[in-house]
Amino acid sequence: MQTHQIANFKANEIIRKCVHCGFCLATCPTYQLLGSELDSPRGRIYLIKSSLEKNNFSSESIKHLDRCLTCRSCETTCPSGVEYGKLIDVGREFMEQKRPLWQKAMRYSIRKLLTTPQLFNPIGRIARHSKKQGNVLKPNANSKKVLLLGGCVQPVLAPNINHSIKNILAKLGFEAIETPQKQCCGAVDQHLSAESDALKKVKANIDAWLGLNADVIISSASGCGLMVKDYASMFQEGDIYYEKAKLISGKTQDIAEFLVDKDLSQLNLAQANISYHEPCTLQHGQKLAGLVNSILNTLGYTPAPVKDAHLCCGSAGTYSIFQPDLAKQLKMNKLNNLNASNPEMIVTANIGCLMHLQKDSKIPVKHWVELLDNQTN
Ligand code: SF4
Ligand code: SF4
Repeated sequence: MQTHQIANFKANEIIRKCVHCGFCLATCPTYQLLGSELDSPRGRIYLIKSSLEKNNFSSESIKHLDRCLTCRSCETTCPSGVEYGKLIDVGREFMEQKRPLWQKAMRYSIRKLLTTPQLFNPIGRIARHSKKQGNVLKPNANSKKVLLLGGCVQPVLAPNINHSIKNILAKLGFEAIETPQKQCCGAVDQHLSAESDALKKVKANIDAWLGLNADVIISSASGCGLMVKDYASMFQEGDIYYEKAKLISGKTQDIAEFLVDKDLSQLNLAQANISYHEPCTLQHGQKLAGLVNSILNTLGYTPAPVKDAHLCCGSAGTYSIFQPDLAKQLKMNKLNNLNASNPEMIVTANIGCLMHLQKDSKIPVKHWVELLDNQTN
């Protein structure tokens, strides 16, 4: 009962900002595909409000809320500052208790598979996207140390991404120390409404990373970076972890934020005609829209503008597993738009988008930092 009252209170705080203007409908990927009010941000706000008031989530409400990608495109559009991402988290947490047993079992199995290295790594190695290219450069002895988030699935699926970052940073005079703890940042548990498991991982990460005493923590996966930047919001003010989490979040930067003011002229660039897919977690979550594009332009890549660049590719954490049909439609639309300029390669900034797009792409999909660490010329 108390949990329900807290959920209701938190939700009402957010919902009362909504003036029902409907501006967000045009930029919602599921509304664009399905054309139904209940698959729009405004419709979902209504569903969460009425379900919390009734203390019941019907199977119909769960269906429409599950179709939400949590891409937060609606937040970017909303003129009233409705924090939809926080609202859907509140709704989902409460909704989780109302799910049928088979759904709970399925979500639990996928969650454990993705967050348990002993289970995920053997499968991940079979599905591996790319191997490391060349040897890692040795940083100078007086290089400044920065912490690089190792991540959990990325090092298994695409180890070349962090390998490239280590090489780039070594050339720029930094030594990237990879976080020793190869466990999830907590995002998978959080997205699947397993808050206590997420909190255990978050606390363990905070303690481990603070112990390494770095000034900067670099993330190369925008989904993980967003989660870590949001760590403080998982704790109440006064909680011993609140201040620690704020410290960690304050030190965390996407690799684009770290590189934007550096002199990149000494890097060995790959020559390629590229198209760039900006992940939702970077543009709507971290509010860094256009940053990677501006770096790529400075380096001479000039990726063509992409139609509907604000729309999700359908990857969205575990969305493509639970909503395969919608995820595939979004992906095919995204690939059509990315391929309109006839690129030789698509680059992006998040391992989830990369793997999802590559599955149906005829051209290579890579992390944009791999362009900056060319080993072939
Ligand atoms: S969420 Fe924002 S954009 Fe959407 S209807 Fe409400 S106020 Fe308007
Ligand atoms: S988060 Fe994305 S999919 Fe969900 S309501 Fe907002 S725009 Fe639509």
